[in-house]
Amino acid sequence: MAQITLKNLAHSYFPNPTRDQDFALKEMDHVWQDGGAYALLGSSGCGKTTLLNIISGLLRPSQGRVLFGDRDVTDAPTAERNIAQVFQFPVVYDTMTVRDNLAFPLRNRGMDAAYIAARVDQIARMIGMEEILSRKAKGLTADAKQKISLGRGMVREDVNAILFDEPLTVIDPHMKWELRTQLKRLHREFGHTMIYVTHDQTEALTFADKVVIMYDGRVVQMGTPEELFETPAHTFVGYFIGSPGMNLMEAQVEGDTARLASGMTVPLGAQYGRPAGRVQIGIRPEYAMLTAGEGLPVTIRRVEDVGRHRLVRAEVLGAPLNVVVPEGMPVGAELTHVRFAPQKISVYADDWRIAPQGRAA
Ligand code: ATP
Repeated sequence: MAQITLKNLAHSYFPNPTRDQDFALKEMDHVWQDGGAYALLGSSGCGKTTLLNIISGLLRPSQGRVLFGDRDVTDAPTAERNIAQVFQFPVVYDTMTVRDNLAFPLRNRGMDAAYIAARVDQIARMIGMEEILSRKAKGLTADAKQKISLGRGMVREDVNAILFDEPLTVIDPHMKWELRTQLKRLHREFGHTMIYVTHDQTEALTFADKVVIMYDGRVVQMGTPEELFETPAHTFVGYFIGSPGMNLMEAQVEGDTARLASGMTVPLGAQYGRPAGRVQIGIRPEYAMLTAGEGLPVTIRRVEDVGRHRLVRAEVLGAPLNVVVPEGMPVGAELTHVRFAPQKISVYADDWRIAPQGRAA
């Protein structure tokens, strides 16, 4: 296993990139800890696959270095990087049995037969295939085959990292949760460095210790699920994480007060000086409260029952606003205003979160 370092890394698919937009990956510097479970999350085209392919060696970056531990692997082909990969679609040998498919990476490396037998049994139990080890892969369902691919990805103990590229795409929805949980358990048990690419936030948040959010070729935040929820570093993280995402409002900020377009003010939980650029305040729907008179005037458009709580679709000063109302709280006509928990408000300048400078007065 290894720590992965990305040094001044950037990539363009153009031969002579000149502008920022020419880069599918903008310059980044990151260290991915040995044994960490990372999810790479972002919408289509943000650069997830490009980054994964650079780490696996399928693509040579146009700038910067990739290190596995102390070793510079930038110019090393995939075969020399000692990694396992699981792709979106199953890669299995149809004519081989499930057992032989699982054993393949170990036999390839000339491991001892007794070790292979024991290890294959262990992995088969983990993916729930111990009963069908002697069956040929041909004729198995797509999700059974993908389970074999996952098992094969996990079978070697000596890999530097395991890379997963949207591995649950072909898996039945009800099986996804189970496999995700199994992967997490396997990670805890074997401690491999794992990188898991997905555009599904539930998959990312349940699998990873650290979620890496990508947007427009940049890593905009690398954090625990809680950090992404509580202190989104970029407006994209606020919007992308959460269901629904963070509410954002244009504002002018001075000290511990935000002034909205209408001239109404919102108290902030800290001091922010006088930020320049396009300034917005962000509040999660969970930290907005409907009141009978305190706060900003609100018009309720719709109330949706979403299981454990209700979601109120409202409008404040002509802009849409979502509020999560806890179970059991009635949403009556007396709720005419909305207030935000000051400590939970984030302030953004040109989409990046500003660190608070001190306590509110
Ligand atoms: P998806 O979830 O759709 O796979 P992604 O986040 O993995 O998207 P990438 O596939 O890494 O994104 O693509 C990042 C950017 O690079 C996109 O603008 C894409 O059009 C571009 N790109 C990807 N591969 C190539 C290529 N081989 N040649 C030119 N441009 C490419």
